[in-house]
Amino acid sequence: MKATLTFLGTGTSQGIPIIGCRCRVCTSPDSRDKRFRSSAFVRYGGLSILVDAGPDFRMQMLSHGLCHLDGILLTHNHKDHTGGLDDVRSLNYIDRKAVEIYCEEKVELSIRKEYSYAFEEVKYPGAPEWNVHRIDDKPFKVFSNDGYELEWVHDVGYRYKALEGPVPPRKEVEIIPIRGFHDTMPVLGFRFGGIAYLTDMSSIPESEFSKLRDLEHLTLNTVGYKPHHSHFSLYEALDLAGRIGARHTWLTHLSHSFPPHAEFSRELGRLCSERGIASQVLPAFDGLTIEG
Ligand SMILES: [Zn+2]
Ligand SMILES: [Zn+2]
Ligand SMILES: [Zn+2]
Repeated sequence: MKATLTFLGTGTSQGIPIIGCRCRVCTSPDSRDKRFRSSAFVRYGGLSILVDAGPDFRMQMLSHGLCHLDGILLTHNHKDHTGGLDDVRSLNYIDRKAVEIYCEEKVELSIRKEYSYAFEEVKYPGAPEWNVHRIDDKPFKVFSNDGYELEWVHDVGYRYKALEGPVPPRKEVEIIPIRGFHDTMPVLGFRFGGIAYLTDMSSIPESEFSKLRDLEHLTLNTVGYKPHHSHFSLYEALDLAGRIGARHTWLTHLSHSFPPHAEFSRELGRLCSERGIASQVLPAFDGLTIEG
């Protein structure tokens, strides 16, 4: 079963441009150099799934015309991936139901602390409604949560049609989580059909590589050329791209230490041919849609 993934954000924790920075990346006129915090929207088995809801969640939903999600998967609890969770209130109003969140126990415990008002027994009216599903590193199912049908309209984008009559039986898809480590913090990446989306990792245990075979598209995080304690360096990401061997590898969570998009794309082409990497490695950009 094929999936499509739209990158809603491909920037590092501060986004690009960084407030106050006048470097050539932060002032680039190329729209591909404007990067929201990392997040992806996935259509898989008829379901609409969001990976991470960072501080740019609201603008990401608005700029893609999205107003319904069957589930939000969280990779880990860092604010650039969870800072927009309060804004799911808009979806609560539209759908008149809780938003379904899928995350590991440790992530749930920390969002319970940070958003304590969303979990109180007697809630302040208007607080976000979340329904948390605990996941771990074993395959799990996401269920549909809708009375809506989403369709892609050329030159318009995604459009919703409210379904008439009774809500159809729930659809479900199985998702394969990929364990990684962000420094020493365990994080999850996710595989949807031929697409694997990994971010905020600095290492992947050997046991996980068997889940990354036969990929059409792989996404990996990198924040710079130099070794970093919690993210892959560019050269580590290139080595992984070569080892995993997806047809295409997309880089995300990018910082302004890389050159502007077009120049960076050419540099990656050169580095891959020098290193004999068969995967086509390119920087992702906000709005890019891939299928696999
Ligand atoms: Zn991050
Ligand atoms: Zn800059
Ligand atoms: Zn992080």
